[in-house]
Amino acid sequence: MEEKNKHSKLEAYWMGYTANQHFKAHPRLLEKAKGMYYWTPEGRQILDATAGLWCVNAGHNREKIVAAVQQQVATLDYAPAFQMGHPKAFELAEKLIAITPEDLNHVFFTNSGSESVDTSLKIALAYHQITGEGRRTRLIGRERAYHGVNFGGMSVGGISVNRKLFPNLLAQVDHLPHTHDLARNQFSLGQPVYGVEKADQLEQLLLLHDPSTVAAVIIEPVAGSTGVLVPPINYLQRIREICDQYGVLLIFDEVITGFGRLGEPFAANYFGVTPDIMVTAKGLTNGSVPMGAVFVRDKIYNAFYQDDATAINIYHGYTYSAHPLACAAALATLETYHDENLLHRAAELADYWQEGLHSLVNSPYVIDIRNLGLVGAIELEPKKNKPTERAFKAYLDAFEQGVLIRTTGDIIALSPPLIVSRSEIEHIISMLKQVLSKLK
Ligand code: PMP
Repeated sequence: MEEKNKHSKLEAYWMGYTANQHFKAHPRLLEKAKGMYYWTPEGRQILDATAGLWCVNAGHNREKIVAAVQQQVATLDYAPAFQMGHPKAFELAEKLIAITPEDLNHVFFTNSGSESVDTSLKIALAYHQITGEGRRTRLIGRERAYHGVNFGGMSVGGISVNRKLFPNLLAQVDHLPHTHDLARNQFSLGQPVYGVEKADQLEQLLLLHDPSTVAAVIIEPVAGSTGVLVPPINYLQRIREICDQYGVLLIFDEVITGFGRLGEPFAANYFGVTPDIMVTAKGLTNGSVPMGAVFVRDKIYNAFYQDDATAINIYHGYTYSAHPLACAAALATLETYHDENLLHRAAELADYWQEGLHSLVNSPYVIDIRNLGLVGAIELEPKKNKPTERAFKAYLDAFEQGVLIRTTGDIIALSPPLIVSRSEIEHIISMLKQVLSKLK
């Protein structure tokens, strides 16, 4: 058979969120990983300052997780997800709800953050339908929110470039303003002091639409992908109060903040605010096998399954919900988190991390530094007519220097695995100092 050879070898794979032409002209490949490090095919060692994509919280290729997945695939590769179960799915659900706050006692499994977000929105809408509040059909997100790429998540998300080519978004969606305020909160240490009043705009939005028509508000406790936007002190508490006052469900998208990123199992624990629905993915399996999980409070689950006679199914689910490999990976991940106290490790390192990051305050073009737990961002002044260029240059240079960072616009985002050592933090900071000093 004649071999097709129409393109270079890299063209067949259409990469998401990637400047394909630029990447394929200068590809960056990772071939192997262990602990805090990646290795390129040329054998260069790269310190991972981003936990992959905010997901490899326990570090790469942990033996316990590798062994669990290998054993699982050799034992039970797949079991139908509907009208059928397998023991590890139930074991995992039990272990997970043991670490969720309050009565977030039921979990719906998905395969990604995006699927978890859309699942959460569907659960919120369905809940109101079956509890006699079918008028509640509106959803509220926020500007500068990232909730994945499916239609629900894109609609409640607040990133205009992501929405530009897809005009038929969900109807009846509105957005709160974001809380980022460079003028008042520049170089805040941890949570910004100013801005709690921005939560009151939720009340204004509810009153504008008639609160009895709003189903849910979805919020990333710390917005990650748009540059680590930390909520002002008491902002989330106020949002919770307003939701309670008007019977609106509160959804936290904890895809990034879940599983220890802030030094508690979830941001809900960290802020002392419990949502009605909590969306997770990423750190659930330490990034090893795709999986997401949506937690709901008792009142939501019970509304569907009051008794046998009135039980209402939710007509929703995925072929790979609670996939055996993902369940095995998640169980081994949870064990690893517990054995090494990783769900609380960020709390131990947070001050050291904060001090290191903020030591970059005088580097060229740095206009803001933000941090909480083990997440951080360095915002650069955009170059005139060439926004994003400075941060992307820093990204490329850092990769050359053997450190993987992440950028969004002109913001450098950092989220090292929670096993990071103090000397590795020092190395990340001193490398950044060098990289930033070269920017023009
Ligand atoms: N929500 C948040 C807050 C995220 O950060 C992400 C991914 N970065 C998603 C949802 C989507 O997750 P996924 O890419 O697994 O679909």
